[in-house]
Amino acid sequence: MNWQKIVIHHSASPTKVKRGKLTLPVNAAMIREWHLTRGWSDIGYHFVILPDGRCEEGRPLYRPGAHCIAGHRNFIGIGICLVGNFSQNDVVPEAQLNGLLDKVVSLIHAYHLKYEDVEFHGEVPGAATECPGRYFPKDIFRKELQERLS
Ligand SMILES: [Zn+2]
Repeated sequence: MNWQKIVIHHSASPTKVKRGKLTLPVNAAMIREWHLTRGWSDIGYHFVILPDGRCEEGRPLYRPGAHCIAGHRNFIGIGICLVGNFSQNDVVPEAQLNGLLDKVVSLIHAYHLKYEDVEFHGEVPGAATECPGRYFPKDIFRKELQERLS
């Protein structure tokens, strides 16, 4: 794959779900289950950032994603998903934002990308979504990213 972009998403889900008597965290394994239920071959995202900032692997990077049809991003964009719903009033935990920044910076270096190559899903031309949510702190993220790259 010739990765040219990084596309940021939210799971638009709770961070935990009840299953019988159990309360399970939403993580890459859980999202993979959801996506397999849709008939997909695997989780659609390449990485999942948990609320505590840990990064889990999703679909391997040698395969196109299934996270953003617009702009051919499934084929040129690495998909990263933050667990949470930032369309509602969920706040992105600081640890999670830092975990995202760590991953994005390392991918930028690994694939020789630039600051401008990092996109929020809703900003991809042709995408009709507010993903990763209207309450995602986009300005803070951008400023932090710029500082880390300078
Ligand atoms: Zn999205």
